[in-house]
Amino acid sequence: MAEIVKLSPNRWPGALSTLRYCVLHTTQGTSSLGWLTNPNSMVSATWLVPPNGPDWYRLGELDDAMWHAGSVSDPVTPLYDGTNPNLVAWGIEFEGFATEPLTQFQLDVARTILGSRPELPLVPHAALATSGPFFRSDPGITNLAAILLAVKGETMSYAEIEENVKGTIRAMLTSPEGAMLVETAIRAPNGYADKLQSWIDANVAKKTGAAGPMGSDSPFGPLPSTPPTGQRGAWPGDRGPEPKAPGRP
Ligand SMILES: [Zn+2]
Repeated sequence: MAEIVKLSPNRWPGALSTLRYCVLHTTQGTSSLGWLTNPNSMVSATWLVPPNGPDWYRLGELDDAMWHAGSVSDPVTPLYDGTNPNLVAWGIEFEGFATEPLTQFQLDVARTILGSRPELPLVPHAALATSGPFFRSDPGITNLAAILLAVKGETMSYAEIEENVKGTIRAMLTSPEGAMLVETAIRAPNGYADKLQSWIDANVAKKTGAAGPMGSDSPFGPLPSTPPTGQRGAWPGDRGPEPKAPGRP
């Protein structure tokens, strides 16, 4: 289990002057290493963590601005002050989906990367893009809780972690897309709805003989599984000319 450095062309070298937080993502697709290092995708992240290892990837230097959260819409985190998040935040892409649990390997790597920085706030991508075409669901509510527990379980109280996750859910419920995300998370395979149904099957149906199986199809349909695009964001003019990424004209 080791970090492999594979620099992506999709970055602004040296442009991350102040690190304020780290954005948590799931890739919402597979074959992510090729995508995040392909100049045509215009997306990247500081790290990419595949589900089963044995290694993980660092795609930029720690002071590079990577292109993972440049498109902001109706953000719900107070850490966003109008600055392009790429210029003040690292990004971690966990290969997988917001509605499927991360692997133990991915949580171990999250702890390895971030555990020594207990003061660094972790922000779900979903909190930066809560509406419209740039709406993002990642890394998912249950994955957010799992990452927070893995990284901050020893430095933060459980109540604080729970409040962080609940706050994110409350914020998401303010937009139709966010409500859809919460609905989907609840109805994900082995999610809350399935667990509740199992409990009902075991405890209620036996008594009444009336409860039938709950439908597994969400009326809201599945979440989009297309890869993220357009996360490069705009370079702020008051910072001078935009630095060129290696390999880009
Ligand atoms: Zn994301």
